[in-house]
Amino acid sequence: MSDSRRRVTVLGSTGSIGMSTLDVLARHPQRFELYALTGNRSVDRLFDQCLEHQPQVAVMACPDSAEQLQSRLRERASDTRVLVGEEGLVAVAGAAEVDVVMAAIVGSAGLEPTLAGVRAGKTVLLANKESLVMAGHLFMAAVEDSGATLLPIDSEHNAIFQCLPGADMGGVAKILLTASGGPFREWSLERMRRATPDEACAHPNWSMGRKISVDSATLMNKGLELIEACWLFGVSADEVEVVVHPQSIIHSMVQYVDGSVLAQLGNPDMRTPIAHALGWPERIGSGVADLDIISIGRLDFEPPDRERFPCLDLAAAAVKAGGTAMAELNAANEVAVAAFLDGSIPFNGIPEVIEAVLDNGLRAAVSGAAISGAAISGAAISGAAISGAAISGAEPSSLAVVKQADERARELARQIIASR
Ligand code: NAD
Ligand code: MG
Repeated sequence: MSDSRRRVTVLGSTGSIGMSTLDVLARHPQRFELYALTGNRSVDRLFDQCLEHQPQVAVMACPDSAEQLQSRLRERASDTRVLVGEEGLVAVAGAAEVDVVMAAIVGSAGLEPTLAGVRAGKTVLLANKESLVMAGHLFMAAVEDSGATLLPIDSEHNAIFQCLPGADMGGVAKILLTASGGPFREWSLERMRRATPDEACAHPNWSMGRKISVDSATLMNKGLELIEACWLFGVSADEVEVVVHPQSIIHSMVQYVDGSVLAQLGNPDMRTPIAHALGWPERIGSGVADLDIISIGRLDFEPPDRERFPCLDLAAAAVKAGGTAMAELNAANEVAVAAFLDGSIPFNGIPEVIEAVLDNGLRAAVSGAAISGAAISGAAISGAAISGAAISGAEPSSLAVVKQADERARELARQIIASR
């Protein structure tokens, strides 16, 4: 009898989403077989994962780390092959043996490997929102060309996907994108200025990697998610309303023209969206505890404070500008967050650096056109609707253009930080 198990590559298996993915996969050995695991520098963790899960291939982005992993696996007579660098990541995302790619590398480093999975027509489970923010137009066009199946892992987008009508966006009035408000929801601006990296990373509801934790504290995470929603669901920024919901029990909502609002609820545990996408269109167990709605008792909602959290408007401005503005926003944010985490700038320096980069003439001419990516088509996000969509003429024509904009914005952000 042939093995009908789906073969999975987990890009970023040593991170928070990666580990949650391995947890869900391990609950379904009859359904899934691991093909490849990848990490950047965390040799110890990837070594342990290789011994436990015995993937065919392991990739370390950092060459020294790959060498260390190789020699330690050899000592244990492991069969796992070790590849190195972006080339290795791209190879395991597009490998013929693979059916499903979990894209869970953080930041722009995820762009090429995630796109490799898309171009090879895989089922791509998208956690790496930065790749879509940077190159949404090219990304969605690649989904359409290859026939890849794109399933959102970000809890909000996975929730929206679950609440959408399916075949098209018929009857949808708007998307309500929920935000926890992050650890500084109730902090004064003065107090936020003195916030430390550990305080910024202490998210009240979710346990995540440090970069996305800081993004949650500035609300840039919600800004990136606004852009992500525009591309994934083919809506304009005006059709997405950000709602602060501190309990993080509702993961987002879809409002219909008849007044109905559909919401997806659950405990704040990423294994739910991961299991949803891995099992889709079936439902499979995730290991997440049942939601005890009685003990939760109440659900609160409030508007975001755009003065204390200017990143939200910076992201909205980048969407409206179109072109490479979103890649520049993302690049400036990555540099600013890293500078905050290493103590070079204060917390409020993050939006200041991003704003300065966007204002520095880098932004593509404001086209006025709303983003118009693919709409949900069939039941998965297939990109098939993109051809008829009115993509702004200013959208970058190639990945090289996106990468140039990314590099320029990074360089400028570094200069601004150095001159502060
Ligand atoms: P993390 O920092 O915990 O893990 C990141 C992973 O990427 C690690 O495996 C790391 O080794 C790898 N990596 C980092 N730099 C790399 C490089 N240069 N080359 C190759 N690999 C590299 O991050 P995370 O919290 O798991 O987030 C991963 C992605 O998922 C992010 O894009 C984030 O926005 C998104 N996401 C995360 C959550 C969450 O709950 N953690 C929720 C929604 C979306
Ligand atoms: Mg999210």
